[in-house]
Amino acid sequence: MSYQLVCGIETHIELATKTKIFCGCTTQFGGEPNTHCCPVCTGQPGALPVLNKRVIEYAVRAGLAVHCDINNNSHMDRKNYVYPDLPKAYQISQFDEPVCVNGYVELDSGKKIRIERIHIEEDAGKLVHDGGYTYVDYNRGGVPLIEIVSMADISTPEEAKEYAEKLQLIMRNVGVSDCKMQEGSMRCDVNVSIHQPGEPWGTRTEIKNINSLSNIVRAIDLEMERQEDIIESGEKVVQSTMRYDANSDTVYVLRTKENADDYRYFPEPDILRFYISPEKVEEICASLPELPDAKLKRYVEDMGLPENNARLIYKYRNVTNFFDDAVGEGASPSNALNMIIGTIYATLQTEEDKENFEIKTTPKQLAELVKLIDDKKIRANKAKDVLSKMLENGDDVKTFIKEEDLAGLSDDDLRTLCQGAIDANPKAVEDIKNGKDKAINVMFGYVMKNSRGKADVKKAEAMIREMIG
Ligand code: ZN
Ligand code: MN
Repeated sequence: MSYQLVCGIETHIELATKTKIFCGCTTQFGGEPNTHCCPVCTGQPGALPVLNKRVIEYAVRAGLAVHCDINNNSHMDRKNYVYPDLPKAYQISQFDEPVCVNGYVELDSGKKIRIERIHIEEDAGKLVHDGGYTYVDYNRGGVPLIEIVSMADISTPEEAKEYAEKLQLIMRNVGVSDCKMQEGSMRCDVNVSIHQPGEPWGTRTEIKNINSLSNIVRAIDLEMERQEDIIESGEKVVQSTMRYDANSDTVYVLRTKENADDYRYFPEPDILRFYISPEKVEEICASLPELPDAKLKRYVEDMGLPENNARLIYKYRNVTNFFDDAVGEGASPSNALNMIIGTIYATLQTEEDKENFEIKTTPKQLAELVKLIDDKKIRANKAKDVLSKMLENGDDVKTFIKEEDLAGLSDDDLRTLCQGAIDANPKAVEDIKNGKDKAINVMFGYVMKNSRGKADVKKAEAMIREMIG
C-alpha cells in the first residue's frame, strides 16, 4: 500500500546580532564555556531582561523576506519548562502575538509552502555529555532566535529539503543569519505523519534538531518506513519526540507524549509590550536586497543566461554582487559568468569559499578583461590564463597583455603565416591531398605558435585549403 507524507517544519535560526536578546553579552559562537554570560542570560534572581531592538528588526526583515504580514503590536511570553539548559525554568518566547504571520516559501515547482508564523525567543544553553558526566555551557543561552513554523504543506522528503534550503538561502541573503546547520545556527524540527490518500491525517511524530539538509531527507525516509511498519502490523503510531542519529543512520524515540506539553504560557511581566510602526516596516522592506529567486529569474529571462550556469552563482550574495558589478562596468553577462564559473571558481574549493568570495580581482578589472573577449581581441583560452594570473596578485589586465598582443592579425599577415605553415609541412600537404583531412592540424599548431595565439583558426583553415588547392 502506498502512503502519503504530511510534513511541516519548525526552523530555529540564530540571528546575527552582535549581542544577546536580553543583555549585552556577545553572541559569538564557541569560546571557553560560560564566558559569554552574565546574571541576565544565566537567569539569576532579580536580574531584569531588556529586549534588544535589533532582534525585532531582524525578525521583521526575515518575515518580509518570506512574504509575511507583520503584527504591529506584539509581546513576549513565558514558556515554562524545567531542564538544565535553561536555569530560570522558563524560556522567554512568543505565544499568541508573534512578530510575523502568514507567509510562504515558493519551491521551484511553483508550489508554495505556507508559513504560519515567525516568533522571536531566546536560545537555551548547551549540555555537553562527556565521560559519564554532563556539563552545561550557557554561552549560547540568550542568543536571539527566530522560530519559523511552516504549515504541513510538505508532501515529499525532497520538498522538505528544498524548503529548508530555500529558507537558508533567503535568510542568508537578507543578512539575518549565517544559517550554518553544522554549527547549529539553523536547526530543523520535522513533523512527520503518513496516511492513505483520502483518509484523515495520521498521528504525527517530531524529529528534533536535524542538523544538515541531507539528514532531513534521510530522517523523513526512515520515519515514514517506521510508521508504515507500525500501521501495517496493525498497531498505532504514538505521538512522540524523535531523534535522528546520523552515525547509526537511525531514528529513535526520545520520549512519548502522554498529553500535549503544557507550558503554561503567560505574558512576560518583565518586558513591556512593543509596537512596530508601519513606517518602520516600510523602511525595512525598502532595505531588503533582491532575493535569490528574483535574481535567478533576472539572469535567465532578462540577461538570457543558461539556467544551469546561472544556478551556479545565484545562491551566493558576494558572487552575484561581483557579477552584477562587472556587468555594470560593461562586461557581457555571458562571458563574465563564464570567467567566474570557469576560472575564478577553480580557486574556491568549498561552499564557504564561494560564500565569502574573497578574491584579489575587482569587478572592474574583470570587466576590462571580459570586454577584450567581447570585442574578439583575445580568445577565451588566453583570457583564462590571464585571469588566473590576475587572481594571484590583483594586477590589472595590462600587466599581462601588451598592446601589440591586442592588435588584430591582418589577413595579409595570416596569409604569410599560412604559407609558412605549408612550406614547413610538406608531408602534411601531401597527406591532405591524399584525403587525410586531419593532417591539417599540424599546420594550425604552426600558425597559432607564430601568431602568438592571435590567429583565427577557422580563417586559417579556409586559407590553407584554398592555398593547397
Ligand atoms: Zn548576558
Ligand atoms: Mn522554539
